[in-house]
Amino acid sequence: MLTTLIYRSQLNLSHPSSELRELVERAKLRNSKLSITGVLLSRGSEILQILEGSEESVVKLFHKIRDDKRHSGVVELMRDYGPRRRFENVGMLLFDLQIQSPKEVLQSVLRYSKLDSYLVSDDRVFKFIQTFITDQRPSSVEERYDPTKWTLTTETLPPGASLGLLANQPCQFALQPIVEPSEGKISSFEALIRGNDGGSPEHFFSSLEPDKIYEIDLQTKAYAFALAEKLGIGNHKIAVNLLPMSLVNVPGAVAFLADQIKKHGLKPEQVVIEVTENEMISGFNQFNSAIKQLRAEGIGLAIDDFGSGYAGLSLLTRFQPDKIKIDREIVSNIHLSGPKQAIVRSIISCCSDLEITLVAEGIEKLEEWCWLESAGIRRFQGFLFARPQLNGTGEIHWPHLVR
Ligand code: C2E
Ligand code: MN
Ligand code: MN
Repeated sequence: MLTTLIYRSQLNLSHPSSELRELVERAKLRNSKLSITGVLLSRGSEILQILEGSEESVVKLFHKIRDDKRHSGVVELMRDYGPRRRFENVGMLLFDLQIQSPKEVLQSVLRYSKLDSYLVSDDRVFKFIQTFITDQRPSSVEERYDPTKWTLTTETLPPGASLGLLANQPCQFALQPIVEPSEGKISSFEALIRGNDGGSPEHFFSSLEPDKIYEIDLQTKAYAFALAEKLGIGNHKIAVNLLPMSLVNVPGAVAFLADQIKKHGLKPEQVVIEVTENEMISGFNQFNSAIKQLRAEGIGLAIDDFGSGYAGLSLLTRFQPDKIKIDREIVSNIHLSGPKQAIVRSIISCCSDLEITLVAEGIEKLEEWCWLESAGIRRFQGFLFARPQLNGTGEIHWPHLVR
């Protein structure tokens, strides 16, 4: 199928202008064999390339470009399918914006293109080209957050090792810290339920009788608070997960939580209830009264896995939580994806206007953290920093600039 792929990158050449021309000449030969056509725009080291051809050859070429050491910060902006090429019989057009004026470049691009001029203004490919030419694109990652300049150092947390299996409990909890690397501090711990065999939440819940799930979900939170008390989490916050129906269906649920929080020497303001976006929206009207009760007790509320469900930002027209946790799906490999970057930027701007704290979840790579930190996110949770530790707190890996 005819595919159009657009990416931007920084091309690191020792003699940019002349080398770029040679590179494109060589690419032209190879591309014509693969019947790939397109446009390459450059401004200094910044480049934007449009590739058109069969899906197989375009994707293969793109992977080669991504692995090419001369390219850095390769971000895919668009991948789309269409009935015909925009640039037929042109090979690879090269435009250097340090030599030609934006106006000249735009006119040439339009002249070479096969698209009727009245169709251009709504065409995404042309809009990417136009934006690059007129330099309105969002700035790339700040110099300071270049992943090659960072490394990790390990710290063992003061509460230290795990307490081992706790007696007479139907379940256990693993704690995973949410960290603020720019401040070098832990902002909170999330308590994740585990079976007594250490099994996953999914496994634990599937072992229960279906009509007991909500009740047990609620009651087990008492063990999470007990663990926080035993470990002495001090001024840190503790986050627990709940199905919204555990608050709706179990009589006196919020009062039970408030009671257990106090009983274990915690303040309600120290506790955050995490509820996933999808579960929240499906029973919103019923859940609304539980939200009010939680607020009245001073207990915090977070939307978990934000962006994974179908509500998205429109959920915030109905209700604004204290905290939003951006789903792992959206942040994984964010440094490589234009669409993911655009979505996360809009979440950041929205949460900043509404004064909602943002957490990015599931960070596994320094590159992901660098992009997110540079975009303005300050709180993170993920294996890169710390893994969940059963009945305790483990090691934290803090990013540091390489000297
Ligand atoms: P969640 O609340 O989104 O919790 C984060 C999950 O992502 C945890 O999985 C954690 O181990 C995992 N995780 C954290 N960092 C990374 C990372 O960098 N990479 C990857 N691949 N994974 C990471 P876990 O513990 O298996 O929990 C799964 C889900 O089960 C939780 O997702 C939460 O929705 C639910 N859950 C956990 N405890 C409870 C509970 O007490 N009650 C209810 N109703 N649900 C719970
Ligand atoms: Mn959670
Ligand atoms: Mn989550």
